[in-house]
Amino acid sequence: DIAVHRDSAPETGGNRTRPNPPSDAVINLDHGDPTVFETYWRKVGEKSTIKFKGDQSLSYFANAKNLCWFLEPKLEEEIGRLHNVIGNAKVKDHFIVVGNGSSQLIQAALYAVSPCDHPEPVCVVSAAPYYSSYQEVADLLQSRLYRWGGDAYSFEKDEPYIEMVTSPNNPTGVMREPVVNRPQGKIIHDLAYYWPHYTPITSQVNHDIMLFTVSKCTGHAGSRIGWALVRDKDVAKKMVKFMEVSTIGVSKESQLRAAKILGIISDSCQDDKSPDLDNFFEYSQHLMAQRWEKLRQVVKLNELFSLTKYPSEYCLFTKDFTQAHPAFAWMSSKSNMEDCEKVLRGHKILARSGSRFGSDPQYVRISMLGRDQEFNLFLERLSSIQEITSEN
Ligand code: PMP
Repeated sequence: DIAVHRDSAPETGGNRTRPNPPSDAVINLDHGDPTVFETYWRKVGEKSTIKFKGDQSLSYFANAKNLCWFLEPKLEEEIGRLHNVIGNAKVKDHFIVVGNGSSQLIQAALYAVSPCDHPEPVCVVSAAPYYSSYQEVADLLQSRLYRWGGDAYSFEKDEPYIEMVTSPNNPTGVMREPVVNRPQGKIIHDLAYYWPHYTPITSQVNHDIMLFTVSKCTGHAGSRIGWALVRDKDVAKKMVKFMEVSTIGVSKESQLRAAKILGIISDSCQDDKSPDLDNFFEYSQHLMAQRWEKLRQVVKLNELFSLTKYPSEYCLFTKDFTQAHPAFAWMSSKSNMEDCEKVLRGHKILARSGSRFGSDPQYVRISMLGRDQEFNLFLERLSSIQEITSEN
């Protein structure tokens, strides 16, 4: 997913002060590298530091008694605490399986829910526009268990299938429900963006398989930690088996760091625990709202593009009516016929074409999760586009 245009990815390497990108630099908003919250974490400073000594965390095992034997108890605790603080998903009656990002858990879940007695690979479908990685993941190994089946809206076969439901959706940011709705189906709910900074929390979801990731929640994509909440014990066991065979578990350093980070954001929502910390979700929601407001202004002024509109809904976490401020902008050209990705590329803005998501090239997905400098440069360039022509 992120390999495309990797050459123009920013150098990070732990630099503290980052120079502004040169005014003619290519801006890469193709992938959703979540560096947007870096400023928050810089402010948190030493409180988020975690150290390891040489004699720590040597074993493969984290908790041999747990079904997910490589899950660090501290991470399990902090995942449970965060979901309770936010109220976005029911943890009770679910097993937690940790993965190397939710990317690995998507594969583990596909493996775990595929019927093993079906003569043909079952179709993995998702309603278009869908997250572009599902197709790649489903087809990469040309498995005998499953294969990519395309847009869920056009799936008509009377046979077992797996539906990926991304809510809020990547790329469009809207909340979603399954669309096939047949008894032979297994559903995997990808809830990577179901956090208050991106969307109002309208209910405490309680599905059979729910995938989350630290990457989009706190911005720590580099730690590669995701988790699945799985109701069925046999499915959870199969997912753990997948993890055993592919990577024999998940780095303990990463898990303990993720536990620390999740602990901080839970604390930050509870004044008594952290009077000196800014509420992470208030901070991040405000930041996303500001970016969206600026983008909408530019789009309104130049009249060439349009953006998805989101309804105002009551958020159970903020206890207020809020709008979604998604991690991606799903933008289209008003002239309906133009290749939007190409137009932006002509202005040195890399974004992902709608065609990659099973939609039309008139659409383009733009990451809203980059650093301020990049985002501001993007707005500057977008506002300088005067007209859309195919020569761009
Ligand atoms: N699901 C969705 C919908 C995503 O957008 C992403 C990241 N782009 C992932 C899963 C994977 O995230 P990670 O592997 O970093 O947890």
